[in-house]
Amino acid sequence: MKLYQKITCALLIVCAAVFTACGGSGKLKDGTYTESSVGHNGTLTLETVIKDGKIADIKTVESSETKGLGQAAVDLLCRAIVENNSIQVDTLTGATISSNCVKRIMQETVKKAGASDKTIASMAAVAVRPAAEKTSYEYDIVVIGAGGAGLTAAITAKQGGASVAVLEKNGFAGGNTMVSGGGLNVAGSDLQQKNGITDSVEKFTEDTLKGGDYKNDPVLVGIMARNSVAAYNWLRDDIGVPFMQERVQQFGGHSVPRACVPVGNSGYTITEALVKKCETLGIDIFYETKAVKLLKENDVVTGVEAENGGKTVSFVAKKGVVLATGGFGANVAMRVEYNPAYGSEYKTTCIQAAQGDGIVMAQAVGAKLVDMGYIQVYPTCNPKTGIISYVANSRFDGAVLVNKEGHRFVNEGGRRDVISQAILAQTDKCAYLVWGSEIESAGKMTQIHAKEFEQLKATNLLVQADTLEDAAKAAGIDAAALAAEIAEFNSFVDGKKDPKFQKTGAFRKIAEGPFYIETVTPSTHHTMGGVAIDAQTRVQSVSGGAIKRLFAAGEVVGGIHGTNRLGGNAITDIIVFGRIAGSEALKD
Ligand code: ADP
Repeated sequence: MKLYQKITCALLIVCAAVFTACGGSGKLKDGTYTESSVGHNGTLTLETVIKDGKIADIKTVESSETKGLGQAAVDLLCRAIVENNSIQVDTLTGATISSNCVKRIMQETVKKAGASDKTIASMAAVAVRPAAEKTSYEYDIVVIGAGGAGLTAAITAKQGGASVAVLEKNGFAGGNTMVSGGGLNVAGSDLQQKNGITDSVEKFTEDTLKGGDYKNDPVLVGIMARNSVAAYNWLRDDIGVPFMQERVQQFGGHSVPRACVPVGNSGYTITEALVKKCETLGIDIFYETKAVKLLKENDVVTGVEAENGGKTVSFVAKKGVVLATGGFGANVAMRVEYNPAYGSEYKTTCIQAAQGDGIVMAQAVGAKLVDMGYIQVYPTCNPKTGIISYVANSRFDGAVLVNKEGHRFVNEGGRRDVISQAILAQTDKCAYLVWGSEIESAGKMTQIHAKEFEQLKATNLLVQADTLEDAAKAAGIDAAALAAEIAEFNSFVDGKKDPKFQKTGAFRKIAEGPFYIETVTPSTHHTMGGVAIDAQTRVQSVSGGAIKRLFAAGEVVGGIHGTNRLGGNAITDIIVFGRIAGSEALKD
């Protein structure tokens, strides 16, 4: 090689090295950069390490994004940015605000590291969830929806020997199940036995029927109650969900404490374990894949048409399709269509994906719908965001509800619909949950949900004070009236009887500080209506009989909860019927 050739060659190698080090997008200055921006729930701070001109590592330093949802977006986007040395990443469907927050932070970070706008624009576009490779797939079972019911059905079918695909329109799994408290009612659990609680399938069935005003399908309720122990044992032993050992919760409308609560008092504990199990079993989860149509040939459902990455992808289901798309609590137009009382004046606890897609798709192939007008509101939600307040679960440990005038107005342990209606009848359509250290030390809600607690305080929705008077003043409640009301309530606790509102559930004094007062209001929470199923979870047709090879489980189903779903029954429902759907779909 001649000298000039050697020099040219060396220059080319150096240029290539610099180009590679910068990901083809300009030199970044090495160092550690810390940037913040506001995400969905609060401040997000990321620490980025630039090494050898490349984005080498990104750590979350501070975040209040929801586990499995906003935080899933943060984790997935950061991983994609590092792997591709590019900040031109997609937003994750279902977590746009958190995704955009990461993108803003990374934009600032690379700018600080010396990148120009032109350099940033030239970075390679990266799909956080890569698009489906083919336009047509074939599986034994196709499950629509990666929430609790869908993941349960998928695991059951896979364990039964089927090939299984799960289609999920969001960029992450978990659905509404993930953002729930995760408690499931079980009649006859080991935890009840340990705590000396006597229960029976009959009592559980009766409570559920009564809670639903006897509009429920008694056959389905019986199946749920009889299979509750098996569902809980399956979650604990097969899936590896850890449960709190010291807590058996009594939700409103239940005659005994029967809810087993996963560690963290969060549905994410359940969905995280279900997703891990799917991964271990090799179940294909197609994210960012929205099912749009059920395919039907000669009265038999044969598959699903879906949208992924801007393309139509078809999924042939040789044995069956399981609908597990959840409810329609976030779809205001659909709520109003079936019950005009639940319009846009209500915020919702549901994730945005709860649009009723499965109900609409099933209806298009002739499915019968039941109970569509029964929509549940959850009484104790954050008035600013609409999301459920888990700190307010101190109600189950005995906290009482008062109005702005300082007076109690309802049985705090009663049904969700009754409490919600009562709250909406108070000044400003909100209520104030009051508790002291006796109740706090029983349930430790401010500790278990410490992040939410801090956020509530920061947004002036919760006050903590050493005296009840100071707490009342800070919350804007009539302090003298509240003092008298609480003194009277404490005398009821001493007498073990509440002559005013016949309070059910936990009954504890509110006498010792610190005192807590939280502002709460109802949000739409659960839609009891949906597709009609039989005992084998086969979707029923408007013309009678089952639609062949179409199964459904979870909140997409109507009829199990009647007018009003009792607390803790959703998780029991989705696990019990998810397991049935997964095994029945296999039978062909
Ligand atoms: P359930 O409690 O019944 O399991 P969830 O709300 O937990 O219901 O889960 C339902 C899941 O279905 C959510 O993750 C949601 O994003 C997903 N989903 C809803 N509609 C569609 C659709 N058209 N295609 C794919 N996934 C969907």
